[in-house]
Amino acid sequence: MKKQICIVGSGTSGLQLAYALKEDFVVTVIHASSAEKIRSGRVMSTQVHFGTTRARESRFHMPKWDDSNPLKSIHITIGTQKLFTGMLKEDALSVDQRLYYSACMNDLESNGVTFRQFKLTTEYLEQLVDDYDLVIDCTGKSGPLFPFPIISELSPFDMPQRKCITGYFLGIKPNVPLGVNVTVLPETGEMFEIPAVTEQGPVTILFIMAVPDKELDTFKGVKDHIEFTMQMKQSVQKFFPEIYRRMNIEEFALTDENAFLQVAINPEIRKPYLTFNDKLIVGCGDSVFLNDPITGQGCNLSSYCAEQLYETLIDYKHDKWDENLGETYWDRTKEYVKEVTEWTNAMTQPLPQHVVQLLMNGAKNQEQADRIAEWFADPKSAHEAFFQKQGSN
Ligand SMILES: Cc1cc2nc3c(=O)[nH]c(=O)nc-3n(C[C@H](O)[C@H](O)[C@H](O)COP(=O)(O)OP(=O)(O)OC[C@H]3O[C@@H](n4cnc5c(N)ncnc54)[C@H](O)[C@@H]3O)c2cc1C
Repeated sequence: MKKQICIVGSGTSGLQLAYALKEDFVVTVIHASSAEKIRSGRVMSTQVHFGTTRARESRFHMPKWDDSNPLKSIHITIGTQKLFTGMLKEDALSVDQRLYYSACMNDLESNGVTFRQFKLTTEYLEQLVDDYDLVIDCTGKSGPLFPFPIISELSPFDMPQRKCITGYFLGIKPNVPLGVNVTVLPETGEMFEIPAVTEQGPVTILFIMAVPDKELDTFKGVKDHIEFTMQMKQSVQKFFPEIYRRMNIEEFALTDENAFLQVAINPEIRKPYLTFNDKLIVGCGDSVFLNDPITGQGCNLSSYCAEQLYETLIDYKHDKWDENLGETYWDRTKEYVKEVTEWTNAMTQPLPQHVVQLLMNGAKNQEQADRIAEWFADPKSAHEAFFQKQGSN
């Protein structure tokens, strides 16, 4: 008989796991909102799925998106000085999670995965754990539901390092070659401009990461979409003149009234398994590996860990599911989690001098510019540049 797995949460990690596991196990997904409510609701995030994540999506036969205009590059500006455009080795793609999640949920349901809609609370955990061979906590940044232990050396902050302010907009002429446009305003914050695929077609995400209480932190108390759009226009005009020049003021508008978000994240890394009522429980994605969005790694790390968890469960398919399985999963993921986390945490602080020098070198040398673009697709190389071979990457 196939083992029964319950995945709590239908985000990036929960959905990829459901696709990966559905052939070998009986999979149930518990989700707080219906696919329709997600599709027509508030944006949840920004996202860039790099080459390795897209390869995993293909491997697990996840839905394909319009990739006629893929992201090919990373543009880097410091202050108002454009440094370079680095080319990615593989195309990346950003698909609005409202579209992505709802399409995956409907597709999975029509392919034999059971969906149960309710917001799980801790009082039902014992019952749930009894009912399945394994529960996987994929509850994202609002989780975890289970008390996975915090790893203090990878969780150095006790408050968010940035305020995340993001909206999906029409009326911005895309940069060329199409790619993610990163502007760093030292000690003030960053802007990520991300061309994205949405239900309304191609749009531009403007994502401000403001250092709390510094000049960019100007969206306090902004609640409605009209006020948000006005404030974004003013901020872009004042701090990001190059983007402002590509803005068509008449057409500049949110794609819909729900296309904006303000949130602040306190990064926290946890050991992703524990025993609860004598059963193994594992966590995947933001519920256990929650980083600041500043390096755009959340979806990619969630996808990486989901694949590692899948491989581990397949290896243990006919064995007992206990702490050994949990430890194997953690052994397979911990190095990558550590590299992503240390790099991401470093990016929230003033950049070390040798990293500033690497960025400056990128302005003079296209190979160096391409290497820096690849930091985002291959965070191991970013970690190396920041911490190991200083000055050589
Ligand atoms: C503003 C912002 C910008 C970001 N930008 C990027 C970026 O550019 N690139 C990138 O890779 N990542 C980015 N991220 C991070 C990325 O969105 C997350 O890392 C990724 O979505 C995590 O996937 P997940 O499955 O762990 O959680 P989620 O995608 O958050 O999914 C969790 C799911 O669990 C459900 N859930 C939660 N609790 C319960 C419960 N009790 N019962 C039932 N269901 C529950 C939720 O409804 C949700 O559907 C950003 C995040 C934010 C907030």
